[in-house]
Amino acid sequence: MEISHETTLKQPQTNQDSSNMGQPHESLYLVLPYLPLFELLAMYQVCRSFMDALNNDILPWLDIVVEDRVRRSRVSDEILMKITSKAMGRLRSLVLVNCGKISDDGLQDVVANNHGINKLYVLQCAGLTPEGVIKAVTTLNQQNATLKTLKINGISNITKEHLQTLRSLLNSDDPSSIDIEICPKCDEPRMVYDCPLETCDRKRATGSCRGCRFCVTRCEECGKCVGFDDEDDNEAACEDVLCESCWIKLPKCDFCNKPYCNKHAYKQCDVPGSSHFICEACYMKIDEV
Ligand SMILES: [Zn+2]
Ligand SMILES: [Zn+2]
Ligand SMILES: [Zn+2]
Ligand SMILES: [Zn+2]
Ligand SMILES: [Zn+2]
Repeated sequence: MEISHETTLKQPQTNQDSSNMGQPHESLYLVLPYLPLFELLAMYQVCRSFMDALNNDILPWLDIVVEDRVRRSRVSDEILMKITSKAMGRLRSLVLVNCGKISDDGLQDVVANNHGINKLYVLQCAGLTPEGVIKAVTTLNQQNATLKTLKINGISNITKEHLQTLRSLLNSDDPSSIDIEICPKCDEPRMVYDCPLETCDRKRATGSCRGCRFCVTRCEECGKCVGFDDEDDNEAACEDVLCESCWIKLPKCDFCNKPYCNKHAYKQCDVPGSSHFICEACYMKIDEV
């Protein structure tokens, strides 16, 4: 985002009131809550009036989502410290996804200064430990005890005891207040899924097809369990598993007749002059010839 100093100093033409000189246009306040974190932080550097506007506005700092999609690790404890200093206790929801560089200390710093957090997601944050998360939740609990939802999928080495401690800290009877639970099949704390299909054969035969992804294989597209009694060969062009009905619906490779799931549809290689595609594996084979 580029914002020149010139633009910030320019007053709207209709604004004749000299007492508003140097104030950012009101529409700025409408934009701020929608800015991603790094752009929001950059706004502080633009000019004094933008900085004041941000300091006086509550909305941009209520709900912070930081997702390190490309794992370039821009998100470190330093960023968390910036969030702490700018949010000034206003944070209500903090969502950190794939932030491998943040540590238990960084998380602790944010929660110790933002007691009103009611939603804390630390998903796939490899630098955090179960003990660090428990410490953070304990800190929030000792203050306003407002925390309602916690997501910790992807934090390594979580035991049943850790999960029990977190559940008791959250003080909620709602099982969905924490994303992981004890798998009824393997007895390990993991994400547990249920079959969306009421007429599922496994559900009918065994009473339940709830389980973690290690215990019950599921269709990547619809979440239905697969591989119970059907020996269908619904092979996909990617590593994912598909149920028969999703397999039938998806477009197939012109050569091997395997479909990609929607998540991996970007791997389709175009066939010139046609709306068909060939999969990566077939494309490589053709290339070698
Ligand atoms: Zn399991
Ligand atoms: Zn399916
Ligand atoms: Zn099922
Ligand atoms: Zn193919
Ligand atoms: Zn796939």
